[in-house]
Amino acid sequence: MSLDGVYDSDNIFARIVRGEIPAVRIAEDQDTLAFMDAFPQSSGHCLVIHRTSRARNLLDVEPEALIAIMSTVQRVARAVKLALAPDGIVVTQFNGAPSGQTVFHLHVHIIPRWTGVALGRHGEGMADPKALGELAARIAARLNG
Ligand code: 5GP
Repeated sequence: MSLDGVYDSDNIFARIVRGEIPAVRIAEDQDTLAFMDAFPQSSGHCLVIHRTSRARNLLDVEPEALIAIMSTVQRVARAVKLALAPDGIVVTQFNGAPSGQTVFHLHVHIIPRWTGVALGRHGEGMADPKALGELAARIAARLNG
């Protein structure tokens, strides 16, 4: 998939928004949804998406949707810091398959990092849903500080 292309309404994240595929949800509001990455690169790896924007990547998103996404990214990253006490947090986002993008519904990764703990490989190793649920609950509990 190149940078240009047609939004596929049946991509995995659109199906998660519609509730057709289960996801371990952390936070949702009218515009955005934050949920746990099912193949995490670190403990607490989460994703933020817009619920209704049909943007595939950063280049085609509406500015208003981007503001909503990044506001949620900041809120969730702060909650990750309080809940999991990482030493650092990577916030990243891929545009087009050659960059590493595999799901073509704009999303932002929040990846907590600990000193001396190596990063897992991108999109490999499915997490235990129960463990993800526990992490999501801990993060959600700190969304308001
Ligand atoms: P991308 O490579 O497009 O930036 O990131 C897609 C992310 O979605 C990857 O980190 C991958 O682990 C995650 N992912 C892929 N399929 C699913 C799924 O069905 N559920 C969840 N929660 N995450 C997924």
